[in-house]
Amino acid sequence: MKIIVTGGAGFIGSMFAAKAVERGDEVIVLDALTYAGHPENLESIKNKSQLVVGDICDAALAYELLCGQGSDAIINFAAESHVDNSISGPGIFIKTNVEGTYSLLEAARKYWNGLTGTKKNNFRFIQISTDEVYGSLGEAGKFNEETPMRPNSPYSASKAAGDHLARAWHETYGLPTIITNCSNNYGPRQFPEKLIPKSILDAISGRKIGIYGDGKNIRDWIHVEDHAEGVQLALVKGKPGETYCFGGNAERNNSETANKICEILDELRPLANGKSYKSQITFITDRPGHDRRYAIDDAKAVRELSFKRKYDFAGGLEATVKWYLENQAWIDSVTDKSSLRANAMSEAIQTPVRWIASPKGSQ
Ligand code: NAD
Repeated sequence: MKIIVTGGAGFIGSMFAAKAVERGDEVIVLDALTYAGHPENLESIKNKSQLVVGDICDAALAYELLCGQGSDAIINFAAESHVDNSISGPGIFIKTNVEGTYSLLEAARKYWNGLTGTKKNNFRFIQISTDEVYGSLGEAGKFNEETPMRPNSPYSASKAAGDHLARAWHETYGLPTIITNCSNNYGPRQFPEKLIPKSILDAISGRKIGIYGDGKNIRDWIHVEDHAEGVQLALVKGKPGETYCFGGNAERNNSETANKICEILDELRPLANGKSYKSQITFITDRPGHDRRYAIDDAKAVRELSFKRKYDFAGGLEATVKWYLENQAWIDSVTDKSSLRANAMSEAIQTPVRWIASPKGSQ
């Protein structure tokens, strides 16, 4: 299959891209390399895929790539993805997650309109989204594909808007779009702004491990590899116009997750003073509009796509903590260069298509 993976230099997109290459797919990653996008994440496939530095808001670029590759699918992982950033600066979330999705849909529609026969029937536009579009749960119940959207943060509202557009492009124009809504991901190569990698790095750097509010907000954790497999199943088995939810069946409150990380670190890298890393945990002022609980009922994905998770949370979390302990060079690289990359990106996206045979820095 020939696939365009937008946001493929980020956390989940890079896992999906690597697995696609392993399967023998031809992959073009389209990524703006924002602070969250790093060619280092594509290290394992650098000689077997292409990275194009560009913005998903550039419909002409997306169209050119679709035509140039003769694509069978476009998987839209590209997004601004951090809720806290969406509270302090919502504008870029609207630009990337709403306008960017619109631009890709239009590029895909133009390309798809020019296809015929099997190529046209088999083309897919997969919109990657989040369970956060459904809002917040009380103590009971789970989200599923029928749950009405009630986003509470600028991030989730922008993702919900993207999902609505993808659905509408199917209903109105017949574009074969599929939407996936997934719970919180964890695993290797997640930018250290999200709860799990941030807690690990704060712990080992001797900083306070900040937990919002009373620490009782619940997330349903899925390993990034399981999510990537789910997306692949949606691509090959999913029905156009449908939505599929993926979850981890691993509800934990944030306090429990931080404590578990500390326990793993106490084993793997005990502190010289004999204390537990737990002594660094501190509760901080809650995030405004903080959703209380997320949980996913993924029965539809299990039934219709044969979705099956490989990881349980305990084993997956331990492996993740180990990964961060063993990959200091990656941490230094993605954290040190963040601001430089943001600047490089704003220049890169001014230029027309830039084909890069292998990720920057490895040539
Ligand atoms: P990430 O922040 O790690 O990666 C996002 C990638 O998109 C980066 O490589 C970035 O450079 C790229 N990007 C940003 N703006 C762009 C633009 N205008 N043009 C091209 N590329 C751009 O995010 P992630 O955690 O890998 O999430 C990927 C997708 O999955 C997002 O759509 C997110 O909403 C969704 N999702 C994430 C989670 C999670 O827990 N992380 C859960 C469910 C769904």
